[in-house]
Amino acid sequence: MGGSDDRKEVKATPDAGAEGTAKHQPAEDEELNRRLSHIKHKILVLSGKGGVGKSSVAAGLAVDLAKRGKRVAVLDIDIHGPSIPRLLGVEEERVVGTEGSIHPVVSSTGVAVMSMGLLLQGRDEAVIWRGPLKYGVIKQFLRDVEWGELDYLIVDSPPGTGDEPLSVAQLIKGVDGALVVTTPQAVSTNDVRRSIGFSRQLELPILGVIENMSGFVCPSCGTKVDVFGSGGGASMAEDVGVPFLGSIPIDPELVKACDAGTLGPFLAGGTPAAAAFAETVAKIIDRTEGKPNKEAKLHSEPTADKPEAASNADTADKRAGKGQRVAVPVTGGKLSAHFGHCEEFVIFSPKETSEGTAVEAEVVDVLEAPPHQPGLLPAWLNERRVNVVIAGGMGSRAQELFSQAGIEVMVGAASTDPKEIVQSYFDGTLVAGQNVCDH
Ligand code: ADP
Repeated sequence: MGGSDDRKEVKATPDAGAEGTAKHQPAEDEELNRRLSHIKHKILVLSGKGGVGKSSVAAGLAVDLAKRGKRVAVLDIDIHGPSIPRLLGVEEERVVGTEGSIHPVVSSTGVAVMSMGLLLQGRDEAVIWRGPLKYGVIKQFLRDVEWGELDYLIVDSPPGTGDEPLSVAQLIKGVDGALVVTTPQAVSTNDVRRSIGFSRQLELPILGVIENMSGFVCPSCGTKVDVFGSGGGASMAEDVGVPFLGSIPIDPELVKACDAGTLGPFLAGGTPAAAAFAETVAKIIDRTEGKPNKEAKLHSEPTADKPEAASNADTADKRAGKGQRVAVPVTGGKLSAHFGHCEEFVIFSPKETSEGTAVEAEVVDVLEAPPHQPGLLPAWLNERRVNVVIAGGMGSRAQELFSQAGIEVMVGAASTDPKEIVQSYFDGTLVAGQNVCDH
């Protein structure tokens, strides 16, 4: 980032027109969308409260992704307490810009960084801005920063559900999803559930929950001691029907690496914490790249033909209308009695016949089933805009989770041709039998 004559340090002042903000400015929006179209995956990192290690986890995930050859940037939207520059060892650097564009700082790990901390003149300078100004500066970060081609943009949000994550959700079309970081102590509080509720309200898909500071692995003998308990994150995730992505143990070396900006060497060190980061990143890649990205885009750009995610209130309307998406678990071409272990989900929608009165069941999607994970399917299918599931059998707890996700469940269907089953459902002649498998 050497300075040339036409480059100058960028000041921490948001757009003059930033105040008032959520107003529509087509040319600017076009520029924002153009810039974002070069970024394949956008992930928002959230936590219910401060101090759970959200920024450390966001930085660690970014560095691990970069280690795998991904092109990664972190946008730190914690305007009042930016910590990403320190974590990525670029605290002393300042961004430079030319007219209309700002160049992020690139850390030695290859991760590009943009943060309010890279704009402030002094380390202890405070920023006091109200919501609209924050929206303006976040928009500027997204629109004016020369991100270039990226595989991942990780957005590190301040704790809670304030203006900053809300701005990102409004500004970025097609966010792949939110990662919610918690700790064994924090998991029992309502804060983390609030973050999940917040994402759902904004129809941000939830990529999953990460439990940080989850036990301590003794460096001498390798025994794991659950200092504050562990496993709470996984059971909470199951409870609310979102995926659980991993547990990162307490590691004093991680604190040192965070303070010294040396996460790169730390993550190459083969420690249990480094391995936990790697496992978590593998799951994130699987959930973002393994699944068609178009789904996230459809999810965030609803149109009349591409309905928004289901909710209890509108399920009934969707059943009657075009937005209906009925999922059938299928194995070997037939409805699978083992719902959680099927090969694929075949999604049907009603198609009007030429007579214009009856409807025909039409296959609109075939989705490879995700690896079995308790509690995952309601959220997974909800994200794929499914509003009805027809199954051979399903446990009562799972049925409850589907209902909470706004998905109607029909059990007791026979293990026959899925299209015939859905056709009889559309015709109103499907007879639900016994719940054949309470698995
Ligand atoms: P947040 O962004 O949630 O406020 P930080 O990432 O700033 O939290 O982390 C808070 C403190 O916890 C920092 O000192 C950080 O080094 C430490 N920390 C984070 N994760 C771990 C961990 N797995 N083991 C030990 N210390 C950790």
